[in-house]
Amino acid sequence: MTEPAVEPLALPAIHASHGGTWLRDANGETRGCSKGEAVMAAADTPLLLLNAPLVANRLGYPDLSGLDLLELFAFVRPARFCVPTPKGLAEALDLTVPGSDDAVPLLLQRAAARLLEICASGDWAEREGAWSSLQSLTRLRWPWAQVLGPHIKKPERAEKWLFSRLPEWEEAPERAQPQQVALDELAIEGKLERLTGEGAEKREGQRLFARGAGGVFAPRAQDRRPHVLLAQAGTGIGKTLGYLAPASLWAERSGGTVWVSTYTKNLQRQLRKESSRAWPERRADGSRPVVVRKGRENYLCLLNLEDALQGGFAGRPAILAQLVARWAAYSQDGDMIGGDLPGWLGTLFRKRGIAALTDQRGECVYAGCPHYRKCFIERSARASAQADLVIANHALVMVNAARGRDHAQRPTRIVFDEGHHVFDAADSTFSAALTGQESIELRRWIVGPERGNRGRRRGLAARLADVASYDDAGGEAVEAAVAAAQDLPSEGWLGRLAEGAPLGPVEALLAQVRATTYARDESGQEAGYGIETETASLPGELVEAAGTAAQALAAIRTPLMKLAGRLEAIIADAPDWLDGQGRARIEGARHSLAWRIDLLAAWEALLSRLGGPADPDFVDWLAVDRNDAREFDVGLHRHWVDPMKPFARTVLEPAHGVMLTSATLTDRGEDGPDWPHAVARSGAPHLEIAPRTSQSDSPFDYANRAEVLIVTDIRRGDIAGLAGAYARLIEASDGGVLGLFTAIRRMRAVHGRIADRLARAGLPLYAQHVDPIDTGTLTDIFRDDPRASLLGTDALRDGVDVPGRSLRCVVMASVPWPRPTILHRARRAAAADEPGGAKGHDDRIIRARLAQAFGRLIRTREDAGHFVVLSSAFPSRFLSAFPDGTPVLRLTLAEALQRVAQGVHAVPGGETAKESKESA
Ligand code: SF4
Repeated sequence: MTEPAVEPLALPAIHASHGGTWLRDANGETRGCSKGEAVMAAADTPLLLLNAPLVANRLGYPDLSGLDLLELFAFVRPARFCVPTPKGLAEALDLTVPGSDDAVPLLLQRAAARLLEICASGDWAEREGAWSSLQSLTRLRWPWAQVLGPHIKKPERAEKWLFSRLPEWEEAPERAQPQQVALDELAIEGKLERLTGEGAEKREGQRLFARGAGGVFAPRAQDRRPHVLLAQAGTGIGKTLGYLAPASLWAERSGGTVWVSTYTKNLQRQLRKESSRAWPERRADGSRPVVVRKGRENYLCLLNLEDALQGGFAGRPAILAQLVARWAAYSQDGDMIGGDLPGWLGTLFRKRGIAALTDQRGECVYAGCPHYRKCFIERSARASAQADLVIANHALVMVNAARGRDHAQRPTRIVFDEGHHVFDAADSTFSAALTGQESIELRRWIVGPERGNRGRRRGLAARLADVASYDDAGGEAVEAAVAAAQDLPSEGWLGRLAEGAPLGPVEALLAQVRATTYARDESGQEAGYGIETETASLPGELVEAAGTAAQALAAIRTPLMKLAGRLEAIIADAPDWLDGQGRARIEGARHSLAWRIDLLAAWEALLSRLGGPADPDFVDWLAVDRNDAREFDVGLHRHWVDPMKPFARTVLEPAHGVMLTSATLTDRGEDGPDWPHAVARSGAPHLEIAPRTSQSDSPFDYANRAEVLIVTDIRRGDIAGLAGAYARLIEASDGGVLGLFTAIRRMRAVHGRIADRLARAGLPLYAQHVDPIDTGTLTDIFRDDPRASLLGTDALRDGVDVPGRSLRCVVMASVPWPRPTILHRARRAAAADEPGGAKGHDDRIIRARLAQAFGRLIRTREDAGHFVVLSSAFPSRFLSAFPDGTPVLRLTLAEALQRVAQGVHAVPGGETAKESKESA
């Protein structure tokens, strides 16, 4: 494509990478300069730059500001995708990608000119609302406002403001119960063929998988006994279409809804794409057959946005609110986390602005909200009730099953893809934590904001003012709850704990928790990370404080229960003034009350156990959470030893058909797949159900497309050696390395030592917890640049999907041993009587992590690459984690570098000299 001629904008521009810093002046001269010079130049005059926090980080000058091209992009092209790198920006604007760092400042000048040109053009798709927004941004002194001003014409007619432009959702009649239908195998295969497309190669594994999945949709024979299928499906068998075939057939014939639940956003995105083969974007009546549903904390709350636009936010956050408002008008579904709002937008503004615009605290006033009929959250909830397919995540499916607002909307046919994560999701969903952060949230929900806080956030009394004026008993209950909630922690609680001056019974308890945790800690406080201790043999003062705190919590719960009863009575015997909207609002309040009542009851149960005998079903502990030695939370925690127990009761039991599928559902021990353990972990045995199991192996040629290299000459704890190994491996593979660590500290140390050196060789290195960029965006950057490498921890090991050349080498810094937490120790002890014992428990965790990490490497038939583990003593019993036939070599770093530099080439028949797993 020929690039449209674009004259660079005559403003100075700066670019800083790990390889150096370049300045280009308004007259078009580019030169390299020192960091100090760059900082001086930026202080002098606003410079064009790309991703200010990142440039600030590179220059070591946190206060840097300027004319950030990303902010301009967010204004001109809201809800459009852009990888926030010079290459990404160039591609998003059809400009030539700069070939070297020193060409970037020119690109920035041209990109700015191009964006201004779009604003001035007659066919700017996102013009509506821009002029009004710019007026507000000018008042807020947004640096771009002056530059943009002359390019955006005042519209002839006044622009409608956002809240009147958004469409309203429509009420739809309740859906009938799904018809009971059984799917025959021929029909499933026919559907699969249609989905994979004419002429597509027939894959036997996929057909078997699809037929097996069909059984989940059969009518249930007994109440509370769903069909449960555990289907292990190797990477590349095409499992998504494999289950979408019977799912779409069932939805079509029964009129019901299938829920597909994932753990990562990546898979959600992929599912959205693949489902378009089975369903149109819209039905004839305009409704959507496929809906992505997330937790409400993911969506923009319009009331919060309105509040932010009208003075609730000041300074930079107010600018963010304006840019979010631009986006909201063009967003597909209002999803702020992983939807079409660029992940980088929030990090440009550094504070928790994005979170403050979602409904994180459950303060929704439902029908009492002026934007209720346009609310993105309500729209998505309604759309999912009418959908054939709902794409959700594990946490939401579980929360919905446990405390969903509407029984009719609870999922009954569920496919848990990434099924190996169901245990972890259940673990966090069904746990309880009585901490300072959690309890202050509850206080705010009941009492409202503390003095001095801006914004509309209102307490229970304000939210239910009309009920209180109508119903005396309800009003008294609200007053009593507000009075009792004064005993919960308030602003400044962490400081008071540290000074030994807690306020109220819950802070007093937390002070005891903190003191006991520190007193018993043996990890060495300089470690700076979280510390914890068991609840065994607690000091008398703590047990006493727990008793007093439990009473205080009960004193809050009692009036809340009374209030819930009053709300119920009002709904049952509705007064004249209670119209449909009022009713919906009271229903909403009842729902959020029930959730808080359950929360308080769980906290009280947790406290009542302290000092007494332990409950064998639970693990309790005290913890002080810290980050870089800074405390951020203190509290008590309770987890189920086996969280699949509550999962079985709340999710499985009411369902009709449930499937868990993944490439790594079973552990692959030395004797092959361990199905008994996978069955035990599915939760089905708690309902005395024996699930069906199936297995389809990956069609990939691992023997010729991948090699596992175990590097044996890097000593454990030798950071310099580790960093050197990473740098040389990245150089040998010319980038394209995903580096995985188990400890953030070690990862930072490695990054700090090698990033500059690699940048000078044109090999950009990014890292989670180092670069001020969210994980999703980091992955986008990595995917987009085949010479980039990325370092990270667990989230990258589990969720990165980067097919093709961009990822050709995975390097693990060590064997991924589980962290010896109290929870881990308890589960390990519980596994002592199982086959393999406690050690087997650890081995399973490690093999699962290795298998997950290896799974990042080969995503398609064409992918090839190396999986490197830097470990001088890698036990052979972990090798079965890798797919059968994958060659494994133990070698020195020098030898590994040679192999990585050569790449993996398909050798017909696999006739290369490789050590087999057996001989390793
Ligand atoms: S209905 Fe609730 S979530 Fe939606 S905009 Fe209003 S307050 Fe926010």
